[in-house]
Formats: sequence, structure tokens, C-alpha cells
Amino acid sequence: MPTILLIEDEFTFAEALRYNLEREGYLVLHASDGIHGLDLARRELPNLIVLDIMLPRLDGFSICRILRQESDVPIMMLTARQDEVDRIAGLELGADDYIGKPFSLGEFLARVRAILRRSERQPRHTGRELLEAGVIKVDPSSRRAWRDSDELTLPQKEFDLLTCLIRHHGIVLSRDLLLDHVWGSDFVGDSRTVDVHIRWLREKIEYDPARPRYIQTVRGIGYRFEAPADA
Ligand code: CA
Repeated sequence: MPTILLIEDEFTFAEALRYNLEREGYLVLHASDGIHGLDLARRELPNLIVLDIMLPRLDGFSICRILRQESDVPIMMLTARQDEVDRIAGLELGADDYIGKPFSLGEFLARVRAILRRSERQPRHTGRELLEAGVIKVDPSSRRAWRDSDELTLPQKEFDLLTCLIRHHGIVLSRDLLLDHVWGSDFVGDSRTVDVHIRWLREKIEYDPARPRYIQTVRGIGYRFEAPADA
């Protein structure tokens, strides 16, 4: 059964779409902010992504651009009905289709069926995911990581932390978000846990941990993973 990832922050609207898609027999995943949506898209490999533009934390255009560098998952963007600019921008970024809000559910479901039919006929990338930035490589499925050709020995949390950082490279991630992703939202502790693990991780991946080049501290917010330009 096809899985559809819905990235939409208006709760009642998202619930209505979810209800109708589930009635059609699709499995529906829902994210109400951009970072969570991007994360689900990468982790769950849905058959279709229905993507709103205005979203908290990371907008739909950015998500579309990032995903297009990594996969050919079909993307349907939700735009304001009259907004030609949004539609053109979305298609230029590689969205497969767009639908203007407000729209009828009948039209929406017909578009969903059409996109899924089209993509079924095309071969999809199913190769295992290898995350790479500079000399750092991470293979989430086998839980292995390398610096150059040297395999790194990372405890579970440090591995999860590195995976989360490299997946979202170039984006500032707050300590709270990292806590949520790596330790889970029910973790009892504070953000210093993140700082401690970042220090340990730097000792393993940075050539000079005192002057980190991969894991940048963003003062007052959190961390950003960046491959140095000369790496
Ligand atoms: Ca929105």
C-alpha cells in the first residue's frame, strides 16, 4: 500500500486530508513542521509527499530543493490558488505537481492517484542511503561511519547525533531539537547532555577538536554541520 507523507501545519486541514487518504487505503504519515517533515521523508521513504509551502522551521521550497538533490520521490505542492509565483517556483525546484488551496477533495484524490500511477511506471532509487559531507561518511542502515577511509567507533548516541547533524547539514539545529531527535521527547535531562556528546563526537571526527570545522557552534542556538570548503 503506498505511503503518503503529508507536511502541513494547519492541523484541521491536515486531519481532513489524512482522513480521506486513509479512507482510500493509503498509509499516511504527518509532520506539522518542516524539519520533522524532511526527517520523515528521509527515514520512511514515502511514495508521495504532499507539501505545504508556509511551514514552521523549514519552508516547503527548501524541503523540495533539499529532497531533489537526494531522491526522485514524487512531490505535490500545496499553493495558494492564485499564486502563480509559488507554482512556478515549486515546479522549477522539481515538484511533480501542485494544487491550489482551497481545492476539492475529489480533485486532490484524483491528482494523488495520477501521480502514484505515473511514478509506479518509473524505476525508483532504492539503493541504500549513504550520507556524505567532506571526509565524513555515514551509513545509517548498517550503523557505520567513516572519516576518510578510517571507520569510526561511535557509541549509539554519538552515532545518532552525527546522523542527525549530517542529514541536516547546513541547517542550524537547536539543542532542544537534537535532544528530541536523538534522545526522544520523553528524555528527562537538559541540553547540556547535547553539549557533552558534541564534545565527544568532535574528538572523533575533527582533526583539531579545539578548532572544530565540521560541527560548528551557533552561539545561543545550537549546532550546524558543515563540510569545510577545502575538504
Ligand atoms: Ca502552512
